[in-house]
Amino acid sequence: MVNNDHRIVSLNNVRAILKPLTSPHAALFLDLINSWKNFPLKQNAAAQGKKRFGAHFPRLVTNKRRLEQLSSTEKLRDILLDELVDTEKHAEEGLVPFPSDDDLEADDESAVDLVTNITNPSFVSEGCIPDLPSTTLADLGGFEEEVVHEVLFELPTTCSVFPCGHLIDLQHQNESVGFFTLATGSIAWIVWPPDVENLNTMTKAYEDYMEVLDTGEFADVARDLSGGVAFVQQAGETLHLPPFCPIIGLVMETAVLVRYAAVTESSFISMCRNIPLYKAWWNTEICAEEKQACFAKALCDCITHILQGEFDDINMEALKHPITPKGFLPTFLHVWDDIKEDVVSVMDANSAEELKHVWNEFLNSSTTQTCLICGVRCRPDRNHNRSQHFENKHWTQVTQAD
Ligand SMILES: [Zn+2]
Repeated sequence: MVNNDHRIVSLNNVRAILKPLTSPHAALFLDLINSWKNFPLKQNAAAQGKKRFGAHFPRLVTNKRRLEQLSSTEKLRDILLDELVDTEKHAEEGLVPFPSDDDLEADDESAVDLVTNITNPSFVSEGCIPDLPSTTLADLGGFEEEVVHEVLFELPTTCSVFPCGHLIDLQHQNESVGFFTLATGSIAWIVWPPDVENLNTMTKAYEDYMEVLDTGEFADVARDLSGGVAFVQQAGETLHLPPFCPIIGLVMETAVLVRYAAVTESSFISMCRNIPLYKAWWNTEICAEEKQACFAKALCDCITHILQGEFDDINMEALKHPITPKGFLPTFLHVWDDIKEDVVSVMDANSAEELKHVWNEFLNSSTTQTCLICGVRCRPDRNHNRSQHFENKHWTQVTQAD
């Protein structure tokens, strides 16, 4: 039973748990904790490092009520066995959320074996189940209460099953705000702030992926990150993880992690600003081209929804520059000139044309005499003035991916 007194959020407590372990992963974690570059999650002690996280600091909250619905690890095991048998749920869904250890995915037989043994905290096996879509666990309810403000869309609830001792390799959380609830087991985590310095380190490491692997484990890149917070998540606790945080985990006891995630307005804008990180990351992934194509399509769809006013309560026909009240559409228009090159650079020629068309429809939907993006005088499109203005000032001719 977890309560606030038993949270493992000080460096001494985390150290005490890691020390008896003999694996090289545990040694890496101890090095990171003893390096003076990282902090405990414990609220006050982390104050110094907190600033680098900006507005969103990782949080570990107790969530017993949700787990009471599961009542026992045996019941959880049976639910997961059904989910496994039910369908071939390993199919990619276009989303490639954390964790994405493609090569560590257990085959069908060992997946069943792993799930069968989640009742054994020290069960060891080779692979893991990185990403099992779980409608049953989503249906257990409670997750919608976690929905943060300004949600654009939610990702399907999935769960991961990790054997004891498994390293959840260093990676960045994707563009979503993550809510990771540990249904059983325990995991030691270090989460770093997604600031320019750390994300540059991650981008560089992804770009040099093969060379990094030549000289050691990818996890060693964690030694170059700083300002992280360390803690051990226990069963019944939910980790609130801000978008883009680099993260590494070490499974201390056979774990089932239920993951719910939502993309918010601000995380969508961060996503557009972090496209160079994605490009470097795809470089390390199997099926990089497909992943980029899926990403570009999702991006294009989302921008279309924004420009069609689907996320804002705004009268689209009466739009004038600057658009009030503040909302997602005005924010997006405000940052567009900064992000346009990166956005267009991931699209193939057809998607880019499509996106340009959506923009022109949007700009010409209003009868105002000024450009909705920059406010310069610019008539609606009878003589293509406005489309020409968009093309010259708010579009880009960067080479597109094909
Ligand atoms: Zn303009």
